[in-house]
Amino acid sequence: MSRTTLIIATRNAHKAREIAAILPENYDVKTLADYPEAPEVDECGLTFADNARLKSCGVSAVLPGLVLADDSGLCVDALRGAPGVLSARYAGEHGNDAANNSKLIAELKSRPGKAPFTARFVCAMSLAQNGREIASFSGTVEGQITLTPAGDFGFGYDPLFIPNGFDCTFAELPPKIKNRISHRSRALSQLATHLQ
Ligand code: IMP
Repeated sequence: MSRTTLIIATRNAHKAREIAAILPENYDVKTLADYPEAPEVDECGLTFADNARLKSCGVSAVLPGLVLADDSGLCVDALRGAPGVLSARYAGEHGNDAANNSKLIAELKSRPGKAPFTARFVCAMSLAQNGREIASFSGTVEGQITLTPAGDFGFGYDPLFIPNGFDCTFAELPPKIKNRISHRSRALSQLATHLQ
């Protein structure tokens, strides 16, 4: 099987690790940690797909080869889709998972009687080369939010998200199981088919 090199347009080590673990073995995965010269991209889009495209095109305009961007987040029905595209900076500081989770719990606690809190993780992926998008993919996983965080695996909102069909959070599931059912793995299986 021929080898494919993919640059993942992220500085989020957790996200990069999940993508590398999900992709078949013939993929060589690099991240922006390997390219300090890569530009910072302003994620000012209104949708996950917009932001994924901004990142893939912005980075591939500067770096050679195939660039894959993942823009993802959590959408909670009781909060009309929030935190949505603001998932990484819901509480203000980009990437502060503890603060984001505390804010989500506080927002939902202020809505008595509304549980179960249905929600989904959404992942939009954009593949680009020479500054232009060449394909896009998406995946979702449905579940519920618990107000009692549990588990140490994963990242982000994983301790609060119970995927449908399970009675524990993403953060309690071994990574192999999360990676089989996650929004990210669903988008990546489309990518692998596309690049076959
Ligand atoms: P992005 O880097 O702008 O795509 O923001 C992604 C944010 O969404 C992360 O910082 C997490 O807060 C959240 N997120 C996305 N995917 C996951 C996941 O698989 N588990 C937990 N949180 C996630």
